[in-house]
Amino acid sequence: MDKETSSEQSKTSKKVLSGLTLAELTEFTDSLGLPKFRAKQIHSWIYAKWAKSFDEMTDLGQELRIKLKEVAEIQLLKLAHLEVSKDGTRKYLFELPDGQLIESVLIAFDDRDSLSACLSSQVGCAVGCTFCATGYLGFKRNLNHQEIVDQVMSIQRESGKRVANIVYMGQGEPLLNTDTVIESIKTLMNSVGIGARHITVSTSGIVPGINQLAAANLPITLALSLHAPDRATREEIVPITTKYPIHKVMEAVRDYVNTTRRRVTIEYVLLEGINDSENQARQLAELVGDLHCNINLIPFNPTRNKEGVVLYGRPDISTQKRFRDIAGRSGKTVTIRLERGTDIDAACGQLHNKFIEAR
Ligand code: SF4
Repeated sequence: MDKETSSEQSKTSKKVLSGLTLAELTEFTDSLGLPKFRAKQIHSWIYAKWAKSFDEMTDLGQELRIKLKEVAEIQLLKLAHLEVSKDGTRKYLFELPDGQLIESVLIAFDDRDSLSACLSSQVGCAVGCTFCATGYLGFKRNLNHQEIVDQVMSIQRESGKRVANIVYMGQGEPLLNTDTVIESIKTLMNSVGIGARHITVSTSGIVPGINQLAAANLPITLALSLHAPDRATREEIVPITTKYPIHKVMEAVRDYVNTTRRRVTIEYVLLEGINDSENQARQLAELVGDLHCNINLIPFNPTRNKEGVVLYGRPDISTQKRFRDIAGRSGKTVTIRLERGTDIDAACGQLHNKFIEAR
């Protein structure tokens, strides 16, 4: 889908401005016969001041504000549902102009001032990880760059809080939509003002996408959702492994590190009795070897599949710590991720599925 599509799809057929680059906003103001500085003013109102309406844009003059209201609107995404966790995590279900639903999450950490937003890059996902509620949805379509960027702006406008970190870890496989994801990263850096070092793209191991991201040479962080160090287990829980085997993925990740000089993160969801053995922890340490990386262990947050069955359990704390300690013999920093939003279905895809069932 190209950049224009989202606004063309808008039910009101007005031009939607949030999520557009300065160049795109300039094209829009040119089309109205306005001087170029108007695009900069609108850009600043949208990205620096999080304006929700044209009435707030007081330096545009009343006549222009009336004109803009006739032909344009600010927000692309419609808030379909919001859940707020006791720990402050906010989970958003957004409706896209064509009626599809996506999830985004705003995560606050007690030990940090900065807030992180977890973004979706596709509606549904084709990768089909067996432990993921989004995987159960199947793939619907790619998001365009405006739909990705407006997730951040919609979160900021709704919460009144500044997002400092971005993770592409919501619905979808970002590196099956790589061109658009790269374009959206540039807008997040240049318009929204988020530093590249505060942006992480998480992939299940799409080799051509990793290569393309390396070629773009953006100083962002790459996270590899590895989830198993051995072929048989990984093929079982991350089926795309049959297309991109572990050794090819690791080769691409090593090339990525050599090109960008950036440390990668290895993500590993711990599933009881599946990938949490001491032997697998040793294999993981061996597999990462001298790779410039740290390892993030994620104790499984139980999700139901289409039939309502919970397929996996979460290892107990002592198993988690044992796994961490053995994997840590690699010399890498290994952390067990702090859980956030467990009271509100914060795992990706869960809210979407619940909402669809209730419709
Ligand atoms: S974990 Fe990520 S890549 Fe795997 S099915 Fe879910 S959204 Fe797709």
